[in-house]
Amino acid sequence: MLQMKLCGDLILREKCTPVSDITPELLNTMDEMIKMMSEQNGVGLAAPQVGITQRFLVMMDPDTNVVYKMINPKILSRSEETTVMEEGCLSVLGADGMPVYSNVRRSSSVQVEWMNEKGEILRAEMSGVPARIVQHETDHLDGVLFIDYLSGVKREMLMRKVNRRH
Ligand SMILES: [Zn+2]
Repeated sequence: MLQMKLCGDLILREKCTPVSDITPELLNTMDEMIKMMSEQNGVGLAAPQVGITQRFLVMMDPDTNVVYKMINPKILSRSEETTVMEEGCLSVLGADGMPVYSNVRRSSSVQVEWMNEKGEILRAEMSGVPARIVQHETDHLDGVLFIDYLSGVKREMLMRKVNRRH
């Protein structure tokens, strides 16, 4: 049974290592992560959020309901054009146990390469919400959280609402 790691847990700050083998265990873990993600109405979940410091994630395009299982994802390029969008994270919860949200500026579109669960290398240009999700989730693999992009005062205000795990 996987457990959600919450803000304050140092595992969320680790740089994850590449996946070297697609094992049945990895496939099971990704399926469980998809279940967790949808049960909590999330659209993305990265391995360190369930305590695994390896480079893989799951995400869903909320417009098409297409689910992606990404192993060793890489953002090859980011657009210069940026967009501000509201973001939340299943690891950054308020006192009520629900995600806290804040506006974050990121590239509007990105080119992404990853390995799927069959070991095939795929490449896609993503924009809109999927671009947002993939940037947020790949950040997790480098120990970066969306709150890191907030300016001092904004971050402080948000962190006051966050139920930190010590
Ligand atoms: Zn997150």
